[in-house]
Amino acid sequence: MASPAAQKRANVVVSRLIPPVLLGAVVYASYAVTKPLCIDYLIHPLPSYDRGPRVGAGAAILTVYYVLLIPMVVTYLHLYYHVLWNPGYLPIGDQKLQDDQSDENEKKTKKSHRRRHRKSVRKAESEKTTQSDTDVERGLGPTSGGVKSESDLDLESFYTKDVFVCQQDGRPLWCSTCCQYKTDRAHHCRELGRCVRKMDHFCPWVGGVVSETSFKFFIQFVVYTCIYCTFALIVSAYFTAEIRRNTGGANPYWCVCIGLSALFAFFTAGMTLSSVQMGIFNITTIENLNRRTAVWTLAIRVPEHMLDRLWDTQSPWAPTFPMVSYPPEASTPGQPQETNPSTERHVFAILHTQPGENPFDLGTPIKNLRQVMGHSIADWLLPIKQSPCADHSSMESHYAFGPVVTRLKQEAGLVPPDNGAVPTTPHSGRNQPEKNTH
Ligand SMILES: [Zn+2]
Repeated sequence: MASPAAQKRANVVVSRLIPPVLLGAVVYASYAVTKPLCIDYLIHPLPSYDRGPRVGAGAAILTVYYVLLIPMVVTYLHLYYHVLWNPGYLPIGDQKLQDDQSDENEKKTKKSHRRRHRKSVRKAESEKTTQSDTDVERGLGPTSGGVKSESDLDLESFYTKDVFVCQQDGRPLWCSTCCQYKTDRAHHCRELGRCVRKMDHFCPWVGGVVSETSFKFFIQFVVYTCIYCTFALIVSAYFTAEIRRNTGGANPYWCVCIGLSALFAFFTAGMTLSSVQMGIFNITTIENLNRRTAVWTLAIRVPEHMLDRLWDTQSPWAPTFPMVSYPPEASTPGQPQETNPSTERHVFAILHTQPGENPFDLGTPIKNLRQVMGHSIADWLLPIKQSPCADHSSMESHYAFGPVVTRLKQEAGLVPPDNGAVPTTPHSGRNQPEKNTH
């Protein structure tokens, strides 16, 4: 049984090897359709076939084949680019960077010591030179010059939104491997050792992790590949049957083409169905694993005009749900306290969904699909624009929330109900009042 580290390395190696194999399969199929089928059998039949030319059929098949091939190749290249160079990683936390640098320095020091030891055995006077090597290695390392995270995700990037996914105490989710807060729907990828925004799955077929930056192109790729493979399968199978009827033989190129296209058509049809289903439900493959039982804990901002009455535990409006207040009140000694905490506070109600509810479901399949595919026909067909869900500029939340969150707000009395009536009780939570401050 391979160790997890070896398994991870194997996954990454396989993910780098498969793309060239796929390229080879496409080149082979293109040759089989173009030369042995269309040119040597239909347009200029070889004497061995003993039949007249069918130029129209050959030209039509070639045209359709390459028209279908182009979108498949373009979407694959676009997908591959985003998987490799824009995978949607979250930044690594300062602590993790420091630990990594310490480990690296330790390794270098040990290596340097071993080298010095070997040199001292051979030549005692080389000790001074070896010491200077150590200093040079430290100075030229890739993380030299102090540890700095790429762009640290601080609490402010959460509590300045109106809603975010949180832990029971109201803090954002935390990745203990990356030592970093996780934005909503982010998942730690074991194979890559990084947290990835709205990670869907690790896919060796495209060389890495499919996430919010690449899921749209992934759907386009599997759809176009399925259409392309189905066409290649039909053409190869049709003329193989014809040649068997007429001559009793078979062309080996066409037979291989049937095998390859059938395999990939079947595989991509399954991927198309499952990916579109994920898009329709606005859920990732990872979230889907416990879709029916998952309970989401959400920090939902309490409107400022409700703050005073909610803080008063004697008030009939006092909440029965836990609350958390940001920014953290513990300040560095010597720094001034906030002068007007009532207006500066970001107070959140900590609320839970029912088991199996998806707060990101926007209510209709088309609204959910638009979050991934875009808002126009061109967006759906062409691999150009990023998915709307990859835009995090909204101050409401990292990802759009749907009717589940609206209902939670209404039940908690944070917004009026749909019919506009003033709620007789401000909440329906069952928890005892509790205030968390971080
Ligand atoms: Zn992580």
